[in-house]
Amino acid sequence: MASIKLDDTIVAISTPIGEGGIGIVRLSGKDSLKIMDKIFLPRNGKKPSGFKTYTVHYGHIVDKKDIIDEVILTIMRAPKSYTKEDVVEINCHSGIVPLRKILDLVLVNDVRLAEPGEFTKRAFLNGRIDILQAESVLDIIRSKTDLSLKVAADNLGGLFSKKINDIRDKLVNVLAHIELAIDFSEEDIDNLKKKDIFNRLKEIKKTVEKLISSAREGKILRQGIKLVICGRANVGKSSLMNALLKESRAIVTHLPGTTRDTIEEIVNIKGIPLVLTDTAGITTTDCAIEKEGVKRSHFSIESSDLILFVLDYSKKLNKDDLNLMNNIKDKHKEVIIAINKVDLKKAIDVKRVRKSFPKKPIVYTSVLDSSGIDKLENTIKDVIFEGKAKAADFASISNDRQLNLLRRSIKDIEEVLEILKRKLPMDCASIYVRSSIETLGEVTGHTITEEALDRIFSEFCIGK
Ligand code: GDP
Repeated sequence: MASIKLDDTIVAISTPIGEGGIGIVRLSGKDSLKIMDKIFLPRNGKKPSGFKTYTVHYGHIVDKKDIIDEVILTIMRAPKSYTKEDVVEINCHSGIVPLRKILDLVLVNDVRLAEPGEFTKRAFLNGRIDILQAESVLDIIRSKTDLSLKVAADNLGGLFSKKINDIRDKLVNVLAHIELAIDFSEEDIDNLKKKDIFNRLKEIKKTVEKLISSAREGKILRQGIKLVICGRANVGKSSLMNALLKESRAIVTHLPGTTRDTIEEIVNIKGIPLVLTDTAGITTTDCAIEKEGVKRSHFSIESSDLILFVLDYSKKLNKDDLNLMNNIKDKHKEVIIAINKVDLKKAIDVKRVRKSFPKKPIVYTSVLDSSGIDKLENTIKDVIFEGKAKAADFASISNDRQLNLLRRSIKDIEEVLEILKRKLPMDCASIYVRSSIETLGEVTGHTITEEALDRIFSEFCIGK
C-alpha cells in the first residue's frame, strides 16, 4: 500500500466553515497550478503555473469575468510541500458562500473533492511522514492542554517513530544472529551466543513493556480524567470547583442543597484535562428533587476516575459525612480529601477522617482566601500520575491500534524467549522474531494494510 501513488488532484476547504477572517481552500496534485491559471487573476498579470515555490501572490478568484473574492495564493511545489505534491492554498474571506463558490470553481476543472484526511494520507503515501506522525496530526488538532499538545507535536517531529524504529533495528540485529546460528548445525552454536540473543531479547521486551505501561498516562492526557467533587451540602464543593475553574460557572449559594443536579466542566489542571463534576450535596432528605440529585451524585461517584471528597473544617463530622466516608471507602477508587474552610475555627475530627482513609492525601483549603488550591492541583496531578511522571516521560502511544500492535509484538518476543529457554530449534525462533519485526512495522506504517489505512484516515476531517 505504501508504494501507491495517487495521481489525481484533490481539493477541500481546510478551515472550519463559518464566518471568520480567513478561510483556506487547499489543492494538492499535479494540476493544482494549472487550474489556478483558469480561475486566478494575479495583480502582476503573470501565470500561476509559472509561480516559484514558497511564494505568495495577491489577486482575485474569478468565474470567467466575475470577481468572486480577493485572495492570496500560497504556492508550495513538489516535493517540498505537506503532501510532497504541488500544493496551492487559496486564502480567501471566510464565509460559507465565498468558500463554497471557490471550491465549486475548482471542482468543475476535473478535480476531485478530497476524502477525510487525504492530504495527510498523501503525505504518508508519498513518504513524507510515517503513520505515527500522521496519527499525531489528529492528536494535535484534538489536544486539550499544552501538555497533550507538546506530546503530540513531539510525535509529529518523529520522537515516537524513532523509539519504534530503534526497537525494530535491534530486533533485526537479533534476527541476523539467529539466522547465522541456523546456518550452523545446532551443536556449533555455543551457549554463549544463545545467552547473548536471550539477553538482548529480554532488553527489547523491557523497552516495549515500558512504552505499553505509559499508555495510561497518554490516554489521560488525550481524553482527560473524570473527577467528581462530592461531600455533604454547604462544605464548599461548588466554591472549590469554581476555584479550580478560576471562573464562576457553577452556582455558589448559602443555601444547602442548591446544587441539585450535577454540573460538568472541563478544566486544565497542571496540563491534565479534567472533566470536573460538581454533585448535589449528599444528604438524608425527603425532598423528591433532592433525592434525585443525591441519586445522580452516587452515579457520578460510581463512574468517576478520581473522587475529591470535601469536608468542612469548621463543622463536626455528621451522619451524612460518615455515611459518605464509608460509601467512598468501599469504592476502592482514587480519593483526595479536601478539608475546606480552614479560615474558620476548627471543629472537625481529622483523626477520624485519617482512620477511614489511612493512605489517601488530605489537603487543607480555603476558597475564601485561596489557600491550598495550588497544593490541591499538585495533589491531583500526583495522584493521577502517581507522582512519578514528567512531561518528557509521557507516553507516545496515542490509540488502541498502536497499543494492540505493541502487545502483539511482545507476545512474539515472549515466544522466542520460551523457545530459547527450552532449547527448541532456532528456526522456530526466527519465525517469531520476523513476526515481531513485521508488527512493529505496522505501528509506523512500514507494513500496513489498505483496510488499516482507511480506518486511520476515516477519523480525520475533510481538508486535513
Ligand atoms: P456546596 O453546597 O458544598 O457546593 O457549597 P458552596 O460552594 O455552595 O458553599 C457554601 C457556602 O460556604 C457559601 O456561602 C460559600 O461562600 C462558603 N464557603 C465556601 N468555601 C469557603 C471557605 O473556604 N471559607 C469560608 N469561610 N466559606 C466558604
